[in-house]
Amino acid sequence: MNKIIIAVDGFSSSGKSTMARRLAAAIGYRYIDSGAMYRAVTLYAMRHGMTDAAAGTVDTSALNAALPGISIDFAPGAEGQHTLLNGEDVETEIRSLEVSNMVSPVAAIPEVRHALTTMQRELGKSRGVVMDGRDIGTTVFPDAELKVFVNASAETRARRRYLELTGKGQAVEYDDVLANVVQRDKIDTTRAESPLRQAPDAVLLDNGNMTLEEQDARILSLFNDTIERLK
Ligand code: C5P
Repeated sequence: MNKIIIAVDGFSSSGKSTMARRLAAAIGYRYIDSGAMYRAVTLYAMRHGMTDAAAGTVDTSALNAALPGISIDFAPGAEGQHTLLNGEDVETEIRSLEVSNMVSPVAAIPEVRHALTTMQRELGKSRGVVMDGRDIGTTVFPDAELKVFVNASAETRARRRYLELTGKGQAVEYDDVLANVVQRDKIDTTRAESPLRQAPDAVLLDNGNMTLEEQDARILSLFNDTIERLK
């Protein structure tokens, strides 16, 4: 049986990464977190003084000039995949609220998107991947055999993110997490380059009232239906 590409797109903290990771493990595919790649570029820009956190702005020309020197890889870690920025494990740092607050402005830069889209297509070349993000089904792999668009209310998503961050020991306030989710939704859906959109051929999955098990069962059945359809 030929392996397919599965694109899982959706809003921030919609649970799409958990869904994509668990599906990949269940069917023996490779999981790729495209958001981690945008976060790693953001961390690079922050470390090199190219961002102004107070203003929420990025020095676009400096970052564009630095892009050829930024490499992003993934390495297997104790609890899943770890993101490497120029060889350094930055998995914990890229999940901080500071990076979350700067990532959408960085991800709106066309040159950043082009560079990462090229890397993502390379990673999916041999197929057999589940990739999650914002534009995987619309731009990166418009020919993906299965596209899922995940959503839940902003409050549900912020609550999940808050529990995740506090569970990791980060001192954050729920209201700040909600504000970040709402702000990222706005930037992601209104940017000119590959805005977050449901692809016309994507299946909409609202997981606000679903347990993890129900979600696993739903996506696995979508996968099985797709394989059946392609036979
Ligand atoms: O998925 P995650 O929330 O970690 O992604 C972080 C940010 O990266 C998103 O808010 C979005 O701005 C950007 N992103 C994107 N395109 C993708 C994946 C992520 O613009 N394919």
